[in-house]
Amino acid sequence: AQLAIDTASVIIFVTDVKSGVTATDAEIAAMLQKSGKPVVLCVNKCDGIGGPPADIYEFYNLGIGDPIAVSSFHGHGTGDLLDEVIAHIPAEEFAEDEDDVINVAVIGKPNAGKSSLINCIAGEERSIVSDIAGTTRDAIDTAIEREGVKYNFIDTAGLRRKSRVEDKIEKYSVLRAQMAVERADVCVIMIDGTEGFTEQDSKVAGLALEQGKACIIAVNKWDAVDKDGKTMDSARKKLMKDFSFMSFAPLIFISAKTGQRIDRLFELIKYVNEQNTMRISTGMLNDILADATARVQPPTDKGKRLKIYYMTQASTKPPTFVCFCNKAELFHFSYQRYLENQIRSTFGLEGTPVRFVIRERGEK
Ligand code: GDP
Repeated sequence: AQLAIDTASVIIFVTDVKSGVTATDAEIAAMLQKSGKPVVLCVNKCDGIGGPPADIYEFYNLGIGDPIAVSSFHGHGTGDLLDEVIAHIPAEEFAEDEDDVINVAVIGKPNAGKSSLINCIAGEERSIVSDIAGTTRDAIDTAIEREGVKYNFIDTAGLRRKSRVEDKIEKYSVLRAQMAVERADVCVIMIDGTEGFTEQDSKVAGLALEQGKACIIAVNKWDAVDKDGKTMDSARKKLMKDFSFMSFAPLIFISAKTGQRIDRLFELIKYVNEQNTMRISTGMLNDILADATARVQPPTDKGKRLKIYYMTQASTKPPTFVCFCNKAELFHFSYQRYLENQIRSTFGLEGTPVRFVIRERGEK
């Protein structure tokens, strides 16, 4: 709940007219007051017709403004509730044209250097530190414009905050990363170059992969690694093995401290975002399909061979291909992988996962 509060513009506090004001309500109201965020007090289950029931007045005692009588069941009062919510949302949040902004989430285990990177990019040592809840706006994204391209670095509710106890709790940091990934177009998976790959890095990367986001693996603290002419090559080889489950993701060696290759990182972000939104025409896809099936025959099972009739791209972010075939169970993962590689070898699609949806003919 605290995470949701931190990242919200407006909070709808839902109470129940039938139970009246409970001790828990009072506790929550106190917590919300501390947050400093606008709160809309919804009193639910006011199902009767006519004006609001007398019981609603007791909710004034919570001290967080006028209660709004709502029946979620029947829909009464929901219009008033929404009007009230909208009234608290600053006009600029509506005006924002999000289409041409690339939302970027920097994710990784604690101490990888995520905050340092954001600070380096923002061009200042910012620390929004306050242990007194409600005195800071917690969720502040960092908007950057570079060479005409707009980027929004998602703050994972306190990315820049330091030495909070929660940072040490893995579960909490994973949850934060998850929320950031959901909003992101591109995920920069940051690993600590002085430590190399760890199990936790693969978990973090898995979050981005699951959600089909464009990915870049950024190896940070490269300034602090003892190097000779071969270090980067061998590190790259090793990491490509470690990250073999997302071999599509480009690797970059950076330093948030010295700013090394930050320009290149921005180029990559822009590039993988384009790949994630790429559309391939059905004609071209079926040329590839014809070629691929001629070269390597689709699998058979008990005398029955897989026939793929047709392939088309259904959506982007990530590119998702629908394949129509005679028997879905014959469409083994290895053959999907093969087709994926064929598509990638023609179109690149670097930095983005792709998905296949298998349909038997006759199905919708
Ligand atoms: P976060 O927990 O991922 O946000 O990591 P921080 O940004 O707080 O960084 C953790 C520690 O690593 C801090 O002591 C930073 O000064 C240090 N650090 C971050 N980036 C770099 C880097 O590129 N090079 C070096 N040498 N140290 C770094």
